[in-house]
Amino acid sequence: LHQFRAITRWNSTTAVEQKEELTAQESADKGFKGHGMLAPFTAGWQTTDLHPLVIERSEGSYVYDTNGRKYLDSLAGLWCTALGGNEPRLVEAANKQLSTLPFYHSFWNRTTKPSLDLAKELLEMFTARKMGKAFFTNSGSEANDTQVKLVWYYNNALGRPDKKKFIARSKSYHGSTLIAASLSGLPALHQKFDLPVSFVLHTDCPHYWRFHLPGETEEEFATRLADNLEKLILKEGPETIAAFIAEPVMGAGGVIPPPATYFEKVQAVVKKYDILFIADEVICAFGRLGTMFGCDKYGIKPDLVSIAKALSSGYLPIGAVLVSPEISEVIHAQSSKLGAFSHGFTYSGHPVSCAVALEALKIYKERNIVEQVQKLSPRFQDGLKAFSDSPIIGEIRGTGLIIATEFTDNKSPNDLFPPEWGVGAYFGAECEKRGMLVRVAGDNIMMCPPFIITPEEIDQLISIYGEALRATEERVK
Ligand code: PLP
Repeated sequence: LHQFRAITRWNSTTAVEQKEELTAQESADKGFKGHGMLAPFTAGWQTTDLHPLVIERSEGSYVYDTNGRKYLDSLAGLWCTALGGNEPRLVEAANKQLSTLPFYHSFWNRTTKPSLDLAKELLEMFTARKMGKAFFTNSGSEANDTQVKLVWYYNNALGRPDKKKFIARSKSYHGSTLIAASLSGLPALHQKFDLPVSFVLHTDCPHYWRFHLPGETEEEFATRLADNLEKLILKEGPETIAAFIAEPVMGAGGVIPPPATYFEKVQAVVKKYDILFIADEVICAFGRLGTMFGCDKYGIKPDLVSIAKALSSGYLPIGAVLVSPEISEVIHAQSSKLGAFSHGFTYSGHPVSCAVALEALKIYKERNIVEQVQKLSPRFQDGLKAFSDSPIIGEIRGTGLIIATEFTDNKSPNDLFPPEWGVGAYFGAECEKRGMLVRVAGDNIMMCPPFIITPEEIDQLISIYGEALRATEERVK
């Protein structure tokens, strides 16, 4: 096993602290110390004593902190600012809508033009199979919570009250509301939250490198996972399983593209037992993988789809659920019987968010964003994968403009570095020192840059990555 030199617990926050060398007074003046926010996915209440990195401004692929320091934003915000940090057309679309109709709702057969136009546009754009309706939410989590309610409503309408369970996958990320966190297959989202709820089951994570058996090919691995899925369905009783949910490429769980033939095989299994397929496209949609949707890339024909993030390029909160015609007809008939479809949010189809999303979709089409990602992808993927030989890297995996690096010892998925070494955090801090922000999750480093990143910026990203890697290798002797 390698040794880790000068063991200190590194994280990006301490790096920022040292770099800025703020006095306690300066820090207090800046409002950093003891700030009042319970920050999402941050290391607990005690972080109120540390200095957060406060981002103030963005431009293209870069963001700037309150000290004017510039960072290449290799995660596009939170996997979302596909058009970068200052797309004037999105700002203009928001301003125009704000000055005409800043808000009106979509309840009780009242609605707004941007929401109608956006629903129409999305149904036209999604071509992996025909979709019937679009329902708007404010986020990916709300989209996935909505999925569960739609599926239950649908099965109740069909007189199948027992068909209510959901199967998701270990390491998936579907959001952090009660149900979306339950669907997610990450222990941290469940621990001490009394989750997952009992109707959610988890099946295998399709990570070939980590989980394949000796001598097993990708295809054989996919067959085994599909068999395991079928066994789980049979054990629980197919009449109790309502839906299967999957991200085309798993994102926050570590950027895990599916093994060859995986989706073909699991789709066959769920179809056999009349189980709905929900594609969680929150990260993959709108070009990220070099196809307009992840479903296009892997031949997925879903019954329901969740989208968010790049839908508005992250400029305003918006998500959506696309519903197949078969399901939407049943929901329509049922709600007519009951008097209404009693589900929705004040801001479902918010006109300003919809106007911005419409403009984002227009730009994706005008600029041939899919081809642009296809063109950039080899430079990005090959450039980073060239570091695969590093003795501290277990695997680099990705496709299109999304990638993860996993640090392990001896090139083995089983030889993890001791968590207290903080190898991933150290690498993240080294990137940050050199002006680049990456996503650190344990010893996984994830990157997912804006689609507007230039070839030169990709080269810069690779160069900073290389320097940070060498510095991290130096630490791990
Ligand atoms: N689904 C996937 C695949 C995601 O990556 C995310 C967020 O990262 C979500 C759902 C949740 O979206 P939100 O954070 O907008 O609720």
